[in-house]
Amino acid sequence: MSRERSYHADAIILRRADFGEADRILTVFTPERGKLRLMAKGVRKTTSRKAGHIELFMLTNMLVARGQTWDIISQAEVVQTYRDLREDLEKTSQAYYLAELIDSFTEEHDVNAPLFELLAFTLAHLSHLADASLLLRYFELRLLSLTGFQPQLHFCLVCNQPLAPVENYFHFGDGGMLCPEHGKNRPNTKIIPLPTLKVLRFLQTQSWEKVATLQLNSQTYWQIESLLLGYITFLLEHRLKSVDFIYRLRKEKNDKSS
Ligand SMILES: [Zn+2]
Repeated sequence: MSRERSYHADAIILRRADFGEADRILTVFTPERGKLRLMAKGVRKTTSRKAGHIELFMLTNMLVARGQTWDIISQAEVVQTYRDLREDLEKTSQAYYLAELIDSFTEEHDVNAPLFELLAFTLAHLSHLADASLLLRYFELRLLSLTGFQPQLHFCLVCNQPLAPVENYFHFGDGGMLCPEHGKNRPNTKIIPLPTLKVLRFLQTQSWEKVATLQLNSQTYWQIESLLLGYITFLLEHRLKSVDFIYRLRKEKNDKSS
């Protein structure tokens, strides 16, 4: 099968790094090709016409030419600028966080169109929301579901019984809830009061329109934020280690067979 010489892609720019004298390498996320690393030639020159179309967090339609080492962006036309995401410092930090999560939970070329939709949707809302804290938690739970790490919030992962309406426990390693009998005194767990569990279930299953109407007391909110951040941090450390391990094994295997 012959490979196409170039392709069109809608792409959200996650990350960029200077390269050579005037070029940049962009990490972008696309619905049909997953995460890609692309070369943007000459974009640090003041005369570059592409530069204004490939800023961080923009949604841009690109024409990409296949190359030997790098695929090269030959044309770029911005679709959504999300200017607030670069001009408001708090929004910028939140957009960086979203981009970093997408970058960390995906591998190059792994296609995940629903995850692209989630990112585009979240950036659009982030750009005009005064308080984005619930939006970020909603994003985290959806991202976990779409990347295979959906936390189990209804049954105890040890005894499989439905959780009673009491204080239960979240276990990071197992990725979900434990009943008091199986969660108490276990390391790597967090106590989850009933109101917090109910909000987590709501965030996991309801539309953003419904989630946006939630009024949380600050204690419940902080419990949710610290639980999700703790779980994500746990997963990423764990995952990076596991990826390193896979690569090491693969390398050893290749070294032996060569
Ligand atoms: Zn149990």
